[in-house]
Amino acid sequence: MKLLEERIRQEGVVKDNDVLKVDRFLNHQMDVNLFMEMGKEFKRLFGNEKVSRILTIEASGIGIACVAAQSFGVPVVFAKKNKTKNISGDVYTTQVESFTHGKSYEIMVSREFLKPQDRVLLIDDFLANGAALMGLITLVRQAGATVAGAGICIEKAFQPGGKRIRELGIRVESLARIESMSQEGGIKFIDMP
Ligand code: 5GP
Repeated sequence: MKLLEERIRQEGVVKDNDVLKVDRFLNHQMDVNLFMEMGKEFKRLFGNEKVSRILTIEASGIGIACVAAQSFGVPVVFAKKNKTKNISGDVYTTQVESFTHGKSYEIMVSREFLKPQDRVLLIDDFLANGAALMGLITLVRQAGATVAGAGICIEKAFQPGGKRIRELGIRVESLARIESMSQEGGIKFIDMP
């Protein structure tokens, strides 16, 4: 998506450890007009998938998931990062390795909000190693629901997540795909069809 690529070029900051900062428009300050365009694009891509719920992960996926959900007319559920041990058994839960923080944490969704008949679209801001998406896929499968696809704003295609998730047979659509990036050389995108 050219609009997103332009913003990344103009305002993205490449940090060490393969981290791209997009705080100015995506995951700290949020440009809602850009989000609306991205939401429409997800709808164009996944509009035929009979999506019944959107699932994302707190915190940075929530904004874009909400705007996308308006295009689909379905509810958004976000996986919560668990701080207390839930012993009641009324939740689905799994472990996720954090890319940006380098440690692992537990995520959970109440059983009330994922049902076997659901067709779930996963949405997130970034795809790097695929751990966050794998965690969401695990929750959907625990519920006996179906993954309708994964919509990603920025895929760092030089990292293994995209390949890993696509090999599971899941349709992944990324609005910007970064082939390589460095502080000296800048950001190179994979051309979209
Ligand atoms: P993964 O689980 O695919 O390794 O990483 C995805 C998660 O890590 C996303 O939810 C995102 O919040 C965070 N993330 C991964 N790479 C980046 C990055 O380059 N920049 C930012 N801001 N977040 C990232």
